[in-house]
Amino acid sequence: MSGNEDTRDKNMPTRAEDTEKKDEYEKVCFICHRPESVAGKMIDLPNHISVCADCMQRSFDAMNNGGFDYSQFMNMPGNPMMGFGDAENQMPKSQRVKKKKPEEKAEPVFDIHNIPAPHKIKAQLDEYVVGQEHAKKAMAVAVYNHYKRVATDTMDDIEIEKSNMLMIGPTGSGKTYLVKTLARLLDVPLALTDATSLTEAGYIGDDIESVVSKLLAAADNDVEKAESGIIFIDEIDKIAKKKNTSQRDVSGESVQQGMLKLLEGSEVEVPVGANSKNAMVPLTTVNTRNILFICGGAFPDLEQIIKERLTKQSSMGFGADLKDKYDNDKNLLEKVTTEDLRNFGMIPEFLGRLPIVFTLQGLDKEMLVKILKEPKNAILKQYQKLLALDEVNLEFEDDALSAIAEKAMKKDTGARALRAIIEDFMLDIMYEIPKDDSIGEVVITRAYIEGTGGPVIRLRGQEVPRIGQSQG
Ligand code: ADP
Repeated sequence: MSGNEDTRDKNMPTRAEDTEKKDEYEKVCFICHRPESVAGKMIDLPNHISVCADCMQRSFDAMNNGGFDYSQFMNMPGNPMMGFGDAENQMPKSQRVKKKKPEEKAEPVFDIHNIPAPHKIKAQLDEYVVGQEHAKKAMAVAVYNHYKRVATDTMDDIEIEKSNMLMIGPTGSGKTYLVKTLARLLDVPLALTDATSLTEAGYIGDDIESVVSKLLAAADNDVEKAESGIIFIDEIDKIAKKKNTSQRDVSGESVQQGMLKLLEGSEVEVPVGANSKNAMVPLTTVNTRNILFICGGAFPDLEQIIKERLTKQSSMGFGADLKDKYDNDKNLLEKVTTEDLRNFGMIPEFLGRLPIVFTLQGLDKEMLVKILKEPKNAILKQYQKLLALDEVNLEFEDDALSAIAEKAMKKDTGARALRAIIEDFMLDIMYEIPKDDSIGEVVITRAYIEGTGGPVIRLRGQEVPRIGQSQG
């Protein structure tokens, strides 16, 4: 044997490997046992002991108040008198938390500090969202103005108003999708919440301010980032003022009242890492002045209100129209005014803080077909990509796409029905195809969608119909 190296077991990790291994694990607070990702940066003490800032502070406080129990000092594993060595290594491996690998972040398409012109924002939205031209335009302009206002932050005489928005459109018409796409393009944190769960503070349900703590969580507790984020509140029509009620309206009008300050811009004290304030969680202050609020709702019966107003207006005087003129008007919703929304049960102060109101159309068959195949991450493209990994070509006949759209129309949930329908019939395909290496192409037909036939299966190089073929 010559030299020390040779005596060492070849399988033993070297010191460098050892430290590398250790770096894979998060440090854990010696006192409260919370990992670094939860408790925040650790303070390193000798003997590989880490203590979180909270516990450190608490220990100091206890000492200052004379309440430090020195008898416990002897029992502390780090105490050299006790002969305990390495505290970190004493912790069983099964209780340690592995560090998350840092996420690779995609470059944001837009920079909110140097926001591009509205037409560029719309062009990007076009790649993902089909139709809804007016909504995309209105949103692009509102977002442009909003972030310009944030970037300049002028506080002179002419203060630019906030561009909070109200989107009105049937379910599945793309309200949430538009907001999500926008937030992703801008790379700003986004909180999606539901107005139905909100109640006035002190009642069962979420406090109104909980929407801000959701945003803070979405921004990884980075207050500055959260302050330029977007909060989307869905189902806003559900907090309309209740009619003919003698009780206190804690989930309707009161919520609207409670939201006024938030929409306008105020300092809100929110719990960090929790949904409700209690003694155990730290609080931080978030200013909502630059947070963009987007409210969305289907507003059922709003059409009726608009129709009544229009009929009333037009049935007077010489220009009196026929009473049922607006019965089949598909674009009735576009004619909405603040007055209609007030009649629906939204309070004027609330509406005043949502200056940008626009509507989304219900999706027709043509739009549904486009949604299937055109957006950048269209459902069909996703399946095609999956099968292409098995070197199988997936095609959809145009007629098959119409059949899917027709089926979706019947469900009356907009584009939301599409995925469910496709997943239903793609299950068999995704199950059967990888079984057989010789399959080169699958063509989905209307007959397959309607359950009266099967898809066309082509083998590599030749065409052989299979699986319940009914193609003529
Ligand atoms: P809602 O209006 O009820 O919020 P969503 O935005 O949740 O509807 O839409 C449901 C799904 O339908 C989205 O995830 C998206 O994939 C699809 N979708 C809806 N509208 C469109 C559209 N105009 N263009 C592309 N996809 C859409």
